[in-house]
Amino acid sequence: MFYFEKIDGKRILKSDLIKDVEAFFTTREICLKSQEFDTTENKKIIAKYLNISPENLISPTQTHSANIDVAIETRQNYPDTDALILTEKDLGIFLNFADCTPVILYDKKQNIGAIAHAGWRGTAQKIAPLTVEKMGTNFNSKPKDIIAIIGPAIGFCCYSVGEEVYEKLKATVKNFDELSEIREGNIFVDLKNINKRQLEEIGIQEIDVCPYCTVCDNDKFFSYRNENATTSRHSAVLKLR
Ligand SMILES: [Zn+2]
Repeated sequence: MFYFEKIDGKRILKSDLIKDVEAFFTTREICLKSQEFDTTENKKIIAKYLNISPENLISPTQTHSANIDVAIETRQNYPDTDALILTEKDLGIFLNFADCTPVILYDKKQNIGAIAHAGWRGTAQKIAPLTVEKMGTNFNSKPKDIIAIIGPAIGFCCYSVGEEVYEKLKATVKNFDELSEIREGNIFVDLKNINKRQLEEIGIQEIDVCPYCTVCDNDKFFSYRNENATTSRHSAVLKLR
């Protein structure tokens, strides 16, 4: 179940499924990435809320790849990276979104986490399950101990795709029937629930899917499609305790 909270009077979105760490999605009110305006102040506000220095709030350079890296304190630069694993307690990580699906993962047993950027390309490459796999290989995570929260993204109501994208997404899960629909000759897909299904198929049981659509709820979140390719982004943020 998702609910809004405020940092400095600005709304953030949380899920009650994760209580042990700081995991949330920012809104338009507290944007961390934009070429249109300066985001320095917002980064300071978030860093202060997380009780870390702003330089310890790390974000990768996202390129719709399936590359997964591990955040480390001495390194700021993560080129060509669309999922970041977090194991250090004095670091915070964030990734940026405007329609693509944000997936926050938290392993309550190992106390480590990750954020994945799953647009259609990332979802077609199964970036969320791949991130879980890497958490397992590198840090001994088990899917049964992992909680996933799937954040605001373009919804089933609004996300129409071409046949090629449809075919690629369809190939990633066993039964695609409820995850796509044809309306007035256009193919619509449910990107958030495709990610959910991918995670369920590798054994993750606790998953919360955000009801908000970035197009329908464009007053709260950014939408690349609905806002003429805006460079502003809302973010998924994670900090361990
Ligand atoms: Zn919608």
